[in-house]
Amino acid sequence: MLLADERRELCEIGRRMVETGLVLGASGNISVRRGDLVAVSPAGMRLERMTPRDLPVIDLTGTVVEGTREPSSETPMHLAIYEATGAPAIVHTHSTYGAVVATTMTELPPIHYNTLLLGGVVRVAEYATYGTPELAANVRKAMAGGMRAALMANHGGVTIGTDLEDAFENARLLEWLCGVYVRARSIGEPRVLTDEQLRQVTERGLRLKPLPEV
Ligand code: 13P
Ligand code: ZN
Repeated sequence: MLLADERRELCEIGRRMVETGLVLGASGNISVRRGDLVAVSPAGMRLERMTPRDLPVIDLTGTVVEGTREPSSETPMHLAIYEATGAPAIVHTHSTYGAVVATTMTELPPIHYNTLLLGGVVRVAEYATYGTPELAANVRKAMAGGMRAALMANHGGVTIGTDLEDAFENARLLEWLCGVYVRARSIGEPRVLTDEQLRQVTERGLRLKPLPEV
């Protein structure tokens, strides 16, 4: 079986995404890239129910190389992000606070310095219908400049990482940051960190771990 370890890990992370409330039902999707191959969650399947054989392996054009199920409808977005970032793994969720911010804002205002762990101020990709090349292009644009995360207007969030576990942790961090922002707005006007305050945090040594070769 191609990418057997990666497919096992995708099943494990799929379970954890459901357990941690980042997705409901068959929403969200995940993938891992190794060289010219990508293992991706299948379209329309609940992430906690996947077994390794359920995950198609595709090439970088989206053609299925192994597996019988249809690849996720967001495969164009995953492939666009791989091409643009060189990341080894992608997590897409419909997490609650992420969706709230993505429905109301054009970026997630930086009210906590941990936004730098996602590469900077997280942008909201312009709305387009799910699964379309247009959405893929909008997300690609929102992730430009070394970002590890983007929100997707009226939809959810997407993160990359140094590996699948890291992409999952970034998805949790994105949801935490959105949750803090939404709750802060409910009791007052949140203070937004200035560029200078963020620069000082970077100066203290807060750095992103580089993405490895895929
Ligand atoms: P898939 O089940 O096709 O991966 O779609 C879920 C989703 O989140 C679409 O944006
Ligand atoms: Zn989605």
